[in-house]
Amino acid sequence: MRKKIVAGNWKMNKTYSEAVPLLYEVKDLLWKSKKGESVIKIIIPPSLYIHDFYETTKGLKNIFIGAQNCSYEESGAFTGEISASMIKSVGGSYVLIGHSERRSYFKETNEELKRKTDITLAHGLHPIFCVGESKDKRESGEHFKVVESQINESLFHLQPGNFKKVVIAYEPVWAIGTGLTATSTQAQEMHHHIRSLIEDKYGRILAEETSILYGGSCNEKNAAELFACPDVDGGLIGGASLKAKEFVEIIQAIPQ
Ligand code: PEP
Repeated sequence: MRKKIVAGNWKMNKTYSEAVPLLYEVKDLLWKSKKGESVIKIIIPPSLYIHDFYETTKGLKNIFIGAQNCSYEESGAFTGEISASMIKSVGGSYVLIGHSERRSYFKETNEELKRKTDITLAHGLHPIFCVGESKDKRESGEHFKVVESQINESLFHLQPGNFKKVVIAYEPVWAIGTGLTATSTQAQEMHHHIRSLIEDKYGRILAEETSILYGGSCNEKNAAELFACPDVDGGLIGGASLKAKEFVEIIQAIPQ
């Protein structure tokens, strides 16, 4: 059975003195209830906090720490960048790759994201690879085509043994941070489409094993309906991951 995952992308939010209590609050709420125990929980704070967060959560079942980005270079004169080996060395397990904010503000291309995927895997990290269409592409009916080329150009060169370490997150750009959540029909339709692309490329077994998360204004009120879709295996949560109670309620909305 494929893994059910809820990941919280904190983006560029919270100073250190705000971040630590939030992590403890999430941890305490999770500790108090058995609900959601089997869900893989990934906290993705600003990279500066990865090591502390790892130390605070190490040994706890099904909790992992991730990074929001990494360089496609191994090491060297790339001021301001953070490498996959550094993330690994401070306890990170997952790396977000291709978030729409990286694609739009930092102009990251499918080719660069392919290199980031490769370097992440080479260092034993799991990519959470984000795909999704803009509002324009949705309105012109090109959403399937956009997602297909993002996956084709950045992931489908992988050998099956590496592909199975990848988590995919479908995040329609028009839904991120806007309060406009995709309907469960729209989410299921795209997740099913992604799974069929994987099946065509790698076969049914790998397609059935790949976790595909939904992201985009997912909150404690709409999570249960989205997570009830057969091809939605959890969520990538932005805004709502900054509120401990809401984030834990989203985790607990995963069908048991
Ligand atoms: C995100 O940034 O990955 C995201 C899904 O944000 P939000 O939940 O705030 O829409």
